[in-house]
Amino acid sequence: MAESNAALYRQLPAIDKLLQFDEAQILVEKSGLHWVTECLREMQEQARTSIAQDGCLPDWHGDWLAELSVRHDRLQQSALRNVYNLTGTVLHTNLGRAVMSNAAIHAVSQVMSSPVTLEYSLDGAMRGHRDRALADLLCQLTGAEDACIVNNNAAAVLLLLATVAPQREVIVSRGELVEIGGAFRVPDVMAQAGCKLVEVGTTNRTHLRDYENAINDQTGLLMKVHTSNYSIEGFTAEVEGEALAELGQKYQLPTAIDLGSGSMIDMTAYGLPAEPMPQAYLSQGIDLVSISGDKLLGGPQAGIILGKKKWIDAIQKHPLKRALRVDKMVLAALEATLKLYLTPEKLTAELPTLRWLTRSQDTIKQSADNILVKLQAYYGDRFFVEAEPCLSQIGSGSLPVDRLPSYAITFAPLDGKGGGLERLASDWRQLPQPVIGRLKDGKLWLDLRCLDDEHGLVQALLS
Ligand SMILES: *Cc1c(COP(=O)(O)O)cnc(C)c1O
Repeated sequence: MAESNAALYRQLPAIDKLLQFDEAQILVEKSGLHWVTECLREMQEQARTSIAQDGCLPDWHGDWLAELSVRHDRLQQSALRNVYNLTGTVLHTNLGRAVMSNAAIHAVSQVMSSPVTLEYSLDGAMRGHRDRALADLLCQLTGAEDACIVNNNAAAVLLLLATVAPQREVIVSRGELVEIGGAFRVPDVMAQAGCKLVEVGTTNRTHLRDYENAINDQTGLLMKVHTSNYSIEGFTAEVEGEALAELGQKYQLPTAIDLGSGSMIDMTAYGLPAEPMPQAYLSQGIDLVSISGDKLLGGPQAGIILGKKKWIDAIQKHPLKRALRVDKMVLAALEATLKLYLTPEKLTAELPTLRWLTRSQDTIKQSADNILVKLQAYYGDRFFVEAEPCLSQIGSGSLPVDRLPSYAITFAPLDGKGGGLERLASDWRQLPQPVIGRLKDGKLWLDLRCLDDEHGLVQALLS
């Protein structure tokens, strides 16, 4: 054994020999001698371990320079890879939620490449606050008196609570103690903001009198949270915004709603399920409403607080605002996104999120028909490849129970065993632009709702 291992060790190529090849020299040009040498040293180490532990050479031993090149390409790849989102979830949190409009992309590249008037007003050279210009636009779109922009909606809720009701009681319905994926739980955020949560009502029914009975001299805020990722059905009751606003006015208490996604346009006008609009709550007299920038709004990750000037002023001055504020890239992307809303008739063409959400099943089926034959020809000896109707979801806790009729290419193993599917899904995740589908009911589904580049997808899947 020891002797044959010694023979294997002798087969390992010397680093300085490898460095003399053109293939290695090209990489030295690109990434430097230090990197290439280190990489080859690491390969040597791994090969030695393989011999010592398994008594064999690594499977790439046949071509060290090819392996070096693979490792180099992997290094060059961004950690944030472009992928095909064919999961059927349009606003996929793990895939970065909203895809930006061209207007937003352009605006971001503009502010990245030059100094900008972020907190600088040209008529007087005074330091303004960075949300000012966008706040005006948000007021125009929603009828709010003022607005504040922070890193995300979770931050918006935290800042709102910390400003409006520090050390005080916040009354929330038991039916609305939401947990959003990734550790955002209403009770925990309350605690972090230094508020005391007072739960009222029951899981399925909460009445105005429940809120009213809980009001005392410790109460600092009446709050509603949109149950964005679940729905309570059957014998239910919740207090509407208008009634809550009136109750707040009666007791001179502020009112707030965390809308989660929210939408600045009436989704039903686009044939989509209804989603609450911040402007509706503001006009009902709710003091503060918070929404996400990268959910249905279709912009960058951000949290937007809309509402009464008196409260927004206080929020802007809170020390946490400095920690939660957004940078010029987010502001630029958000401004460009919001400006699209000034011309609503163009939204479905220019805002990718809305374009994908409003794509008809027929259009998506057309896409499926366009690529089906090519995929069948390539994969047909291993899989049943079919075009089938399916249901997409909006995602990111928007409109949780509603599904959008869509079309998918499905792959089912010819041998009826699931193992091949896992392998297929994994192979596609290794592509230069990974293709992400969904495993369900013994098939791998590629929902084509969010596919813009049919040709590119076929090229990728046939490589
Ligand atoms: C999504 C959501 C949040 C968190 O918003 P982010 O922008 O992801 O931080 C908070 N509350 C509700 C109700 C939500 O749906």
